[in-house]
Amino acid sequence: MQRLFAVIGLGRFGYSVAETLVKKGCEVLAIDHDESKIQSISDIATFAVQCDATDERALKAVSTQNVDVAIVSIGENIEASILIVQTLKEMGVKSIIAKAVASIHGKILTNLGVDSVIYPERDAAVRLAHRLISPKVLEYLELAPGYSIEEVAISDRFSGLSLEESKISEQHNLNIIGIKKQVTRMVKGKMMKEQEIFNFTPSPSDIVERGDVLVVIGKEDDLDRFSNSE
Ligand code: ATP
Repeated sequence: MQRLFAVIGLGRFGYSVAETLVKKGCEVLAIDHDESKIQSISDIATFAVQCDATDERALKAVSTQNVDVAIVSIGENIEASILIVQTLKEMGVKSIIAKAVASIHGKILTNLGVDSVIYPERDAAVRLAHRLISPKVLEYLELAPGYSIEEVAISDRFSGLSLEESKISEQHNLNIIGIKKQVTRMVKGKMMKEQEIFNFTPSPSDIVERGDVLVVIGKEDDLDRFSNSE
């Protein structure tokens, strides 16, 4: 059976969550008290309801208690976010994910019993800072405190070597889980087209070349040493 998601608060974050869930084929109940937000999502959401989500009767009227997951994406009005989470808990909603804008906001949401607190702005800022510190780091995702996955542009000195010959894994204590390559393809016999190829099962004999990007997983200290090495 298809899962039903409620997205409460259709700011930039909530709207994108709802839009992506719909694109992935999920059923979405979108809720906002701003009529224009409801109008803008009404064409794509399964249900779009204009109401004040702090009002338990209004939420019950649209059967919010029956959703599988509720995503509360209200940041600016912290009081509303807390009230809504409390109401959803009282209604017995099975799973609640809430966006927080500050750690005190997140702590309160955790104390209320939400399953997961998301800090989209803080996470985007941390990712950007990692990219700025090491220009070779193109993407960054923290997996657990002190451990992450990074996409790192390969140094020229490794060009033409196999992964085994490069000794990246053993010298830096990293696990290489993918290689991204830009290849030029002939289209319709003449036109050249740049295309990215992702090898997600790299073997020790795979050759890396200039311009390749490695997807590596490991301790942040080891990743920093690798991405800052020449
Ligand atoms: P973003 O950064 O994702 O754009 P934000 O955190 O700055 O969002 P907020 O102003 O906090 O945005 O609100 C997000 C959405 O939540 C807005 O569309 C707003 O109308 C809606 N919203 C706020 N309070 C309520 C409420 N009590 N009931 C329903 N919707 C609400």
